[in-house]
Amino acid sequence: MSPGGEPCSCGSRGCWERYSSGSALRRAARDRGFGREDTSHRVLATHADDPVARDLLDTVAAHFVDGLEVVSAVLDPSTVVLGGGLGTDPAFFDAVHTRYARQAITPPRSRPQLTRGRLGNLAGAVGAADLAAPGRT
Ligand SMILES: [Zn+2]
Repeated sequence: MSPGGEPCSCGSRGCWERYSSGSALRRAARDRGFGREDTSHRVLATHADDPVARDLLDTVAAHFVDGLEVVSAVLDPSTVVLGGGLGTDPAFFDAVHTRYARQAITPPRSRPQLTRGRLGNLAGAVGAADLAAPGRT
């Protein structure tokens, strides 16, 4: 997403996840003085009353929508499911949904429906277990 961007744990730089994930929100919150413990949870819990928390949430949501636009332009999905701990958080989902609703969609594409996944932080583990299940190749 940003070739000269932040180093990513995958070895590349500027990956979408570096800017639009729970860990991205945690890093940004620490940089803005939220302390070292439960930073993303505190941002999500205080965004309604704290303008710094609101700004952090909106910034990470904006990065998410930027990436979603790229993915949507390539795949033209009818539905996008937000998963993981951050993606299923109501505050983050609302921030993404609000920002995405303002994005112009160029026909012939249509705006995909955004929904929240049901597994939260367990999504990765459940997916890995499903892939490892007998009968899967
Ligand atoms: Zn990466």
